[in-house]
Amino acid sequence: MAGRDGGPARTTVILGGGIGGVAAAGRLRRRLDRRHRVVLVNREPDFTFAASYLWVMSGQRRPDQVSRPLESLRRRGIDVVFADIEAIDPASRTVTADGRQITADHLVVSLGADYATDTIPGLAGAGETFVTLAGAQRLKGAVAAVTRGRVLVVTAAPLYRCPAAPYEAALLIDAALRRTGVRGSVDIALHSAEPAPMGVAGPNVSAAVTSLLAGRGIDYRPSHQITAAGLGYADFADGQSEGFDLLVYMPPIRPPAVGAASPLAGATGWIEADRRTLATAFPGVYAIGDNTELPLSIGKPLPRAGVFAHRQALAVAGNIAASIQGRPGGASFDGHGGCFIETGFGKAGYGSGDFYAEPAPAVKVRPPSRRWHLGKIAFEYNVLRRWL
Ligand SMILES: Cc1cc2nc3c(=O)[nH]c(=O)nc-3n(C[C@H](O)[C@H](O)[C@H](O)COP(=O)(O)OP(=O)(O)OC[C@H]3O[C@@H](n4cnc5c(N)ncnc54)[C@H](O)[C@@H]3O)c2cc1C
Repeated sequence: MAGRDGGPARTTVILGGGIGGVAAAGRLRRRLDRRHRVVLVNREPDFTFAASYLWVMSGQRRPDQVSRPLESLRRRGIDVVFADIEAIDPASRTVTADGRQITADHLVVSLGADYATDTIPGLAGAGETFVTLAGAQRLKGAVAAVTRGRVLVVTAAPLYRCPAAPYEAALLIDAALRRTGVRGSVDIALHSAEPAPMGVAGPNVSAAVTSLLAGRGIDYRPSHQITAAGLGYADFADGQSEGFDLLVYMPPIRPPAVGAASPLAGATGWIEADRRTLATAFPGVYAIGDNTELPLSIGKPLPRAGVFAHRQALAVAGNIAASIQGRPGGASFDGHGGCFIETGFGKAGYGSGDFYAEPAPAVKVRPPSRRWHLGKIAFEYNVLRRWL
């Protein structure tokens, strides 16, 4: 695809080396002549594939199987800068990272979401979470140590990353305890802050997930907001206090600080972008993935999921390459995507469809089978092998 671009050399800077960032960088690098620079800026040295963290918890993956050094992108002709991004000036497309300024012709902002665990007093000390690789590793040991008592899984706010993840966590913990033969002596409860599982995907998906939990004897309680936690107890908004032997939580999220402090942020702190082109109000500046808030017809935002970040990255990279090469772009993100829900025992369910459909997302749900488990493996393979 390279070689059509006879104009001046251009620099595209991609902020964030997560799913959106690496896909955007990889697609651009393949499309553009090497005299055009593609620069990726990330804080940590490694890319880690969060969608596989629950497999780390359940012992199906080792941490090294879901991590790749971002340095390897240099072999592909991508300039990688390891630095903390401190400020974004979208008007001049200038980024300050570790005190150094980088100016771009095109800027792609893909900084993910920050965790807001501190909004629930005591939660971090009382429980463990699977949203970091280290947390998933610790949970592997903690679940293995459970032989009796009560495991309590909570979503600590209605808004979090990956709507399926806490439900998968409960199902995979159930599967692990059945494998070790102790499930009969352990109660598992899932209390969610939201009114139904994966509600954005519609009532059919919610009903299917609720029935999966019931079929596995997991005590599901929706609209039950945790307010505080301490050693062995969790308090809820309705005044109840509950005991547990192991507390597993999905933390609330907040917009990444650097995005929220920039003129790109809307009133909520999330970045505003056109939901199809991902263009912001600033020429040449795009925002993709979890740091955006893309409205749906039902008044809720598009769920924050890697599958969407990935598809948005490909559309944006295609349009930037076209612009540099002086040809029409026209790629857009159409709101389609799917979400696997691992149920253990080598199976997963799958919900997929058009989240931009009117008057509500049109999502079809498929029951757990080996096929969708293999589909999730293919997603992992696609990201790790294709871009890293
Ligand atoms: C447990 C779990 C399971 C999940 N399962 C799935 C799944 O099955 N399917 C699915 O589609 N999605 C899943 N997701 C969601 C998915 O991981 C995210 O939606 C996806 O990673 C978003 O990509 P992103 O590029 O927007 O952000 P990220 O992947 O979070 O990348 C953001 C990057 O920006 C960096 N960064 C942030 N701020 C700065 C700064 N100031 N300076 C420098 N670098 C910075 C971060 O360090 C990070 O590397 C899951 C998430 C979790 C936590």
